[in-house]
Amino acid sequence: MAFRDITGHRHLLELIARAAGRGTLPPSLIFAGPEGVGKRLAAVALAQVMNCLEMSGTDACGTCAACKRIARSVHADVLLVEPGDTGTIKIDQVRDAIERSAYRPFEGRRRVVIIDNAEALNAEAQNALLKTLEEPPTASTFVLVTSRPDMLLPTVLSRCQRLRFGRLSPAEIADVLMRDHEYAEADAHAAASVSDGSIGRALEGATDGFVDARQAAASLLESVATGSDPRRRLSGAKALIGSAGGGSDRDELARRLCALSSIIRDLGALLSRADERCLANGDLRPLLERLRRSFDSDRVLRAFSAVDRAMAALDRNAGPKIVADWIAFQI
Ligand SMILES: [Zn+2]
Repeated sequence: MAFRDITGHRHLLELIARAAGRGTLPPSLIFAGPEGVGKRLAAVALAQVMNCLEMSGTDACGTCAACKRIARSVHADVLLVEPGDTGTIKIDQVRDAIERSAYRPFEGRRRVVIIDNAEALNAEAQNALLKTLEEPPTASTFVLVTSRPDMLLPTVLSRCQRLRFGRLSPAEIADVLMRDHEYAEADAHAAASVSDGSIGRALEGATDGFVDARQAAASLLESVATGSDPRRRLSGAKALIGSAGGGSDRDELARRLCALSSIIRDLGALLSRADERCLANGDLRPLLERLRRSFDSDRVLRAFSAVDRAMAALDRNAGPKIVADWIAFQI
């Protein structure tokens, strides 16, 4: 996947592509940012830019023999190091990568060593890398990909240029889910709304779960929006807790609270006239518009912090029914 095909991070990716083209990209890099936003894809795209046989502008073509081999992780000059079964990256893997990076490129122009989940490097392995990061062999680039740069030694951090990847917008997440993961539009938006800007997180949950969770959250909000009839609030609570019995109640309610929080955040965004693209539930615009008439910014803030407290209570093992009843009277 070339840079142009990666969703989001436009500005950063263009900077990287241009610097790579000019040969001014530092040879030791850290791609840091949340889980599941495309950091590893970007590292692979960089390896393609450095070795593509038929560049298109500053980006790789994505279709030549070199680009295809890199995408399949079988290019002789692009080495991917990642945690093994134990969850750590062992010093032997690092030594092997260092040794191989010392040779001149075999089939391409530049060797690229991608260390994915670099936080899994143990201290010994990180120390073994120091000298190479300080002065990588000519024609070699090291990219450490991590969501936890804080777990890398300061000596490693100081030797690398750190590039920060941000979260994706809900609209970007939904686009990727529809394009690459065959989600239907409603499912994609529902999953994106509780993904916290991470494709990985959006894919983790069951799609049906997200759609249900959002529906339950929406119906609670509609039943409490106007008036203070306790019966309506109780029926809202019932809708929120759902019909599932047994041990899954807690996870289900947690997912629904998450959806509730996401819709309330959107109400806040609408009240402050934020850009439409930043709405997590942009596809629920009619609902949001209806709710907006009953929610001023004070109520939004109160509701938002109540959901937060409900989530914390659920984490501390409070009963799901008690939490659902409580939240229905707080919003
Ligand atoms: Zn190519």
